[in-house]
Amino acid sequence: MTISLKLKEKMEASDWVTLMFKRIDAGEVFDFTLGNPEIDPPQAFMDRLKQVVNNHHPDMHRYTPLIGFTETRESVAQNLSREGDMTVRARHVIMTAGATAALNCIFKTLLNPGEEVILLAPYFVEYPYYIDNHGGVSKVAETNQDFSINIDAIAAQINPRTKAIIINSPNNPTGAVYSEKSLQDVGALLRDKSREFKRDIFLIADEAYRYILFDGLKLPNVFKAYENAIIAASYSKQLSIPGERVGYAVVNPKMSIGDDIMEAMTFANRILGYLGAPSFMQKVITPLQGVCVDIKEYQDRRDLFCDALEKFGYSFIRPKGTYYIFSQCPVDESRFIEVLARDGILVNPGSGYGRSGHFRIAFCVKREKIEKSLSGFKKAMETLL
Ligand code: PLP
Repeated sequence: MTISLKLKEKMEASDWVTLMFKRIDAGEVFDFTLGNPEIDPPQAFMDRLKQVVNNHHPDMHRYTPLIGFTETRESVAQNLSREGDMTVRARHVIMTAGATAALNCIFKTLLNPGEEVILLAPYFVEYPYYIDNHGGVSKVAETNQDFSINIDAIAAQINPRTKAIIINSPNNPTGAVYSEKSLQDVGALLRDKSREFKRDIFLIADEAYRYILFDGLKLPNVFKAYENAIIAASYSKQLSIPGERVGYAVVNPKMSIGDDIMEAMTFANRILGYLGAPSFMQKVITPLQGVCVDIKEYQDRRDLFCDALEKFGYSFIRPKGTYYIFSQCPVDESRFIEVLARDGILVNPGSGYGRSGHFRIAFCVKREKIEKSLSGFKKAMETLL
C-alpha cells in the first residue's frame, strides 16, 4: 500500500460529496454543499486591485516576511482596536493564507502529541483533520438544542490533557452567534480549570465569518472574555475572495506569553509550507479593513430560503450569521439526503458536522438557484410525510 493508511481512511470517510454526484444521472443540479460564494467582491476591492496593479511596488511579488508586511499588520491591528474597543498592535498580528493556515499555525504552535482540543458540536468539518495534523486529539462537547453554548458539557470534557477549545462564531454549520455572556462563561470556566490543572488552556476563536452577521447583530469581543485567546480570521467571506487565500491570526494583547506564541506561529507558518500570506493580496487588503460584501444580499437569501422551508414544515433555527442553514431531517438523514438528491438537490449530511439527523444548506448561491430548488424541497417533505 503506497498511500498512507491513515490518509486513505480519512479520504474514504469524507467521500460522500463525490458519491452523491455519481448517484445523479441527469437533470439540473442544485448544489448547496459548498461555502464557495457566488457573490462578487465589493467594488472597493475591485478598485483597490487595479490601484495596486497600476502602482508597482518592489515587494509585491517577492516572498513576504513570514509574519506578514508591517503596514498590513498595522492596518489590521488598528481596525481590531477600533472594532473591539481595545489596543491591538501589529506585533499581535500574523498574516496567513486564510483562516485555514491561521488555524493550522495555531494548532502547530500549541499541541504536543495526545493533547486535547474541545470542539463544540455541530462543528466545522475540517477541525478534526487540522487537530490530527498536529498530533492533537479532538474531544466533542455538545451545544444546546438551539446551538447555544452548554457550559456544563464543556466543563465535562476538560481534563489535565486539555490544551484548547475552539469556538466558531458566527458558526458554520448552524449560523449561531454566541452571546457576550456565554463567552464570559467560557472564559471564567477556562480560568478556573487552568488554575485547577496548573496549565494554560487556550481559547481559539474562529472568526472566519466575523462580518457575515444579520439583523444588525454585533460580534462580541472574545478578547474581553478571556486573556489566553487567539483569533483566526479571513478575508475569504468578508470580501468574497476565498481563492485568494488571505487571512490572519491575532493573539490577545493581554496574553502574558503572547510574544512567544507569535514567534512560534511565525516559525509554524514557515515549516508548514505556507511561507506567509500571498504578498500581492496583503498589499490589496491593507486599506480594506472592515470592508464587506453587501450583507443584505445574504440576508435576503436567508429569508427567502427560511420562509419557504418554514412553510413546507422544516424545523430549524434561522441563522444569525454565515450563509448556512442547519435543519433537522424529517426522516433518517441518509434517506432524506438521497430523496433530495433525486431532484438534483445536494446538501451536506449533519453527521459530517458531528450532529446526525440534520442537513446543511449553503445559500451563498445565485438567488435564482434557490428559487428553482424550492419545489424540490417541498416535494421531498410531501413525499416523506
Ligand atoms: N473556518 C470556518 C468555520 C470555515 O467555514 C472556513 C471555510 O469555509 C474556514 C475556517 C477557512 O476559511 P479560509 O478560506 O479563510 O481558509
